[in-house]
Amino acid sequence: MRMRKKKNIVPRMEAVKSYLLENARDIPLNENIYLEVGCGKGTFICTMAKRHPERQFVAVEKVESVILLAMEKAKAQEISNLRFFKGDVMELANLEREHFCDRIFLNFSDPWPRGRHAKRRLTADSFLSLYKKLLSEDGDIHMKTDNTELFDFSLETFPQNGFELCNVTRDLHQNPPLDNIMTEYEQNFVSQGKPICRLEAKIKAEKNK
Ligand code: SAH
Repeated sequence: MRMRKKKNIVPRMEAVKSYLLENARDIPLNENIYLEVGCGKGTFICTMAKRHPERQFVAVEKVESVILLAMEKAKAQEISNLRFFKGDVMELANLEREHFCDRIFLNFSDPWPRGRHAKRRLTADSFLSLYKKLLSEDGDIHMKTDNTELFDFSLETFPQNGFELCNVTRDLHQNPPLDNIMTEYEQNFVSQGKPICRLEAKIKAEKNK
């Protein structure tokens, strides 16, 4: 997500610093968390965190001016079960801790349409091995995108990397689930009449491999 450079970014970051994890090692230890990769301006994860006060949430976003808006949103709503990590999700690969996520959300990830950039897609092999390290045994990934090329790519990479797919749809809003939380991108695409693709992926049990 590109944004114009924000004024006063330093004092504004300071004002929300209780929401920011200084280091990926500071991810809450007490229970299995729900993680969003690329949270953008944070509407989805803030709504999710309010809806599930019993859970801990972590949102990862690499663009400072964008994560700032998400943290300001969380602060304005006094959300206490959500923290933010500013950086590339790949930085979580260096953690000693593994299998601490019950769910990972990928919402409208950058499509990287050119073949030579395919490795940067958040469902490319290296990212899927990272998610396998992060996810608990029963954990899963929920992915939404408007981009059919990224979706088709992911329908191949997930099974190739030991995940099984379920609840796959190419038009989520034809029959929208009551608990669907629209992201900023999703609101935009839906208002343009663009279909939204969605899937869930779960690590296959060892014995079935
Ligand atoms: N989820 C939001 C934003 C989608 S745009 C929504 O649906 O409205 C994708 C976002 O992912 C961008 O803000 C981008 O900065 C972030 N992003 C992309 N790759 C990332 C990575 N490797 N690590 C962390 N954030 C990433």
